[in-house]
Amino acid sequence: MVSCNNRHLQANTAERGAPVKELEDRIVRDGVVKAGGVLKVDAFLNHQCDVELFDHMGAEWARLFEGEQINKILTIEASGIGIACCVARHFGNAPVVFAKKAQSINLDGEQYCTKIFSFTKQREFSVIVGRRFLSPGDRVLIIDDFLANGCALEGLIAICESAGAEVAGVGIAIEKGFQGGGDKLRAQGYRVESLARIACMDDETGEITFA
Ligand code: 5GP
Repeated sequence: MVSCNNRHLQANTAERGAPVKELEDRIVRDGVVKAGGVLKVDAFLNHQCDVELFDHMGAEWARLFEGEQINKILTIEASGIGIACCVARHFGNAPVVFAKKAQSINLDGEQYCTKIFSFTKQREFSVIVGRRFLSPGDRVLIIDDFLANGCALEGLIAICESAGAEVAGVGIAIEKGFQGGGDKLRAQGYRVESLARIACMDDETGEITFA
């Protein structure tokens, strides 16, 4: 069991809409709580994809980030791609760029590169984005499936910084608030809009408590 009272989650910056309840209900119905603070949502997000749900999530982020003049969506392979493509339809078909996990880095100056520590795989790996897909003047919305300790997002933010692109906001499907990554990034001034925010979960009973 991850304790529910071990941290106070910061409030969302905006009123949350119907897709949040839809996602929370789906997590309760189909999510499986594993040991070590891992939530499996293979039935609709990480293996089989519910594109109608992704579409509703995209509409919610479009509402939340209205007026932010976002012209590019950045995510990381693999699970972020499907969500990001559905989201882009709500942002004027903005191009979706995904950071690729690279085995070896070809340091030819054509790519932005950073290292990310994977929470689920418990190892570090390199990610790359081609320089021609991210530029100064881009206003980027970063999209990902999960936010845990925040390493993946820190890597994507570092890539945006290298490119001179501005991070206009971050949209996360499921934030595990008890791991603290979201609050850390909010404290740095990033606007992080997580749809479902889990305060705690119990791998023995399967119970999930939302913030
Ligand atoms: P972070 O870098 O914030 O620690 O972890 C975020 C990344 O790890 C996400 O891109 C996601 O792929 C993966 N991740 C973290 N926690 C979970 C989890 O509980 N379930 C699943 N399916 N993926 C997770």
